[in-house]
Amino acid sequence: MSFAKRMSQLGTENAFAVAARAAKHQADGHTVYPFHLGDLNFASPEHIKEATIKALHDNKTGYCPAAGILPLRAALAEEINLTRGTKYSPENILIQPGGKPVIGKFLLSFMNENDEVLFPNPGFPIYESQIEFLGGVAVPYSFKQTEQGYSIDLEKLEACITPRTRLIIINDFHNPTGSECTQEEREKLAHIILKHKLIALIDEAYFDIRYEGKSTSILSLPEMDKHCVMLYTFSKKFAMTGWRVGALVAPLKYMESMARLNVNMESCTSHFSQYGALAALTGDTKPTEDMLKTLKKRRDTAVSMLNTITGIHCPSPASAFYLFPEVTGLMQKKGFSKYDTFSEDLLIKTGISLCTRAHFGKILPHEQTGTDKNKFFVRLAYSGIDEENIVKALNILKSYAE
Ligand code: PMP
Repeated sequence: MSFAKRMSQLGTENAFAVAARAAKHQADGHTVYPFHLGDLNFASPEHIKEATIKALHDNKTGYCPAAGILPLRAALAEEINLTRGTKYSPENILIQPGGKPVIGKFLLSFMNENDEVLFPNPGFPIYESQIEFLGGVAVPYSFKQTEQGYSIDLEKLEACITPRTRLIIINDFHNPTGSECTQEEREKLAHIILKHKLIALIDEAYFDIRYEGKSTSILSLPEMDKHCVMLYTFSKKFAMTGWRVGALVAPLKYMESMARLNVNMESCTSHFSQYGALAALTGDTKPTEDMLKTLKKRRDTAVSMLNTITGIHCPSPASAFYLFPEVTGLMQKKGFSKYDTFSEDLLIKTGISLCTRAHFGKILPHEQTGTDKNKFFVRLAYSGIDEENIVKALNILKSYAE
């Protein structure tokens, strides 16, 4: 029995390998400070659980329409219009088992073999994996360091566009850097999309995870709703990562065909879970507000402590729950020039488990030989570790560094 060729193209989220390594270290009797996984150590709010339990008692246990239950589609259209200034109707919404399936369905729907697809690097590793698995050509675009943090290198991005470029993936409120576009950058991206007739996937998984200011979407700009497919997820805002409920939002003319993908792949998203998601959108907002307050405190503590450590420079992003400090000085001081040996040493000597830049896409040429040569970055997620342990871990890190 031999595997199909495409299986060799299937990538993964290497953060899961970091989690396995951390679990082993813990099983060996050591304390582990988990900064690696983008999961939340908050319980889903009670009213969401109760609505789901009621749906189970009401026997919402059979199949439902492939596109999702209508009240949820209606509530989500309203929520997206309110927060993004769009004009979607329930018919623009396809409920999905999480946000992640939107990536593959977007590519299956719009990418022909050998089409070039622009995607962020560093970025969520599933983009590159799915592009290559489904027969496309993955073309990375990069980020540059700014005074505030990081931003997409738009000049380089546009220079990557060829006649074969058909699609672009944009993850505003970005994993792993926590960066977001300025309004000017969103306008430039919109201009690029229109000028080159691209179809865009707008991944806004972290749109609602923000600590100051207000999130704005590229979808609010003229014509964008006609050229973009949006990835929405209940995972982060409502601490529902394990529920697997999200949505694909797209122009009406594509909906029938894209809903057929749902019919083919999973029939429908878990029926009763959709009542939980409906309660999330229509119910008490306090649990989310409280969670954001806690996350903000964790962010502020972690950023200020990291910035007291020689050899670490850590920006403070206003959204998502990731920090992406530059650790070049620290690695040099400790004598490391490779991520894997550094992170293993860190785990063994401090118990800190984290992802490095290498977990978010192949290292790009300008990082190997160009302007960013020998610069090193790591990602700390503060979504799954309490403030008390953040303080303990970063004190240990300071001693390790000094
Ligand atoms: N997009 C990004 C950028 C993410 O980081 C994640 C999850 N870590 C997702 C999409 C998918 O999330 P989910 O499938 O839980 O909705």
